[in-house]
Amino acid sequence: MDVPDAHVVSDSTVDKDDDTRDKETSKETDYGGGLLVVSTNPNDWTRVLTLHHPSLAKAIGIHPWFVTSDHAKDLEAMAELLRDFTELRVGEIGLDKSGRHKATYSSGLQTIVFERQLALAGEHQRSVSIHCVQSHGRLLDVLRELDRDLSRPVPRGVYLHSWSGSPDVTRDILRLKRVGPVIFFGVSLKINASRREIIEAIPLDRLLVESDLQLNDPDRLRAMAEVVKLLVTIISPHELVMNFERFLNLMSKSS
Ligand SMILES: [Zn+2]
Repeated sequence: MDVPDAHVVSDSTVDKDDDTRDKETSKETDYGGGLLVVSTNPNDWTRVLTLHHPSLAKAIGIHPWFVTSDHAKDLEAMAELLRDFTELRVGEIGLDKSGRHKATYSSGLQTIVFERQLALAGEHQRSVSIHCVQSHGRLLDVLRELDRDLSRPVPRGVYLHSWSGSPDVTRDILRLKRVGPVIFFGVSLKINASRREIIEAIPLDRLLVESDLQLNDPDRLRAMAEVVKLLVTIISPHELVMNFERFLNLMSKSS
């Protein structure tokens, strides 16, 4: 059974000038159990919009690595695209304190841009894919605040991709009254598939698997097969398909 890939990164930044690759992508029709393609910066949004396939869902977002102080016009453009294209989801957005991203994290800029995009996902009733590296405490604070403030709509579904938070943080998020019922957690081969303590804290009906690779990456399907194999004793491919379908239905405005 083909298991859906819940987090695929748009590859336009690496191959946008490569015509051959473009043609291969447009010809590809076998997306197996389906996938969600996310984008990381405004340059990728146009490309993501051109992808069309019944098994392919797509999202636009400003990734924490691409956050700059000049974000106002990008957020306005994002709001406009979400208004115009009701099938779009939000992502990948989030927080990252690692390496060279520490400056925008410490200054609070990442949090501002993350919260504005969360607000857009809520206002437009879309789901959202979130990246969180070394920032689990702040992520919990942001989600708690959103949960508490009843004037702020919660996005349809909230996906924490390649989740690396501790079991305690996982449980704290699941306990949130409004966010808890729509939260999902992602497992990928490259980040957390062998970290049993993280995976055991995720309820089975909230677990999704992902490659966390680019759409054209030749290793994508192999990475998916391996992560499914690693989890085979705790969750079946059928359950993973059901979870992804539930997540997509939560994400879909019309269904
Ligand atoms: Zn990520």
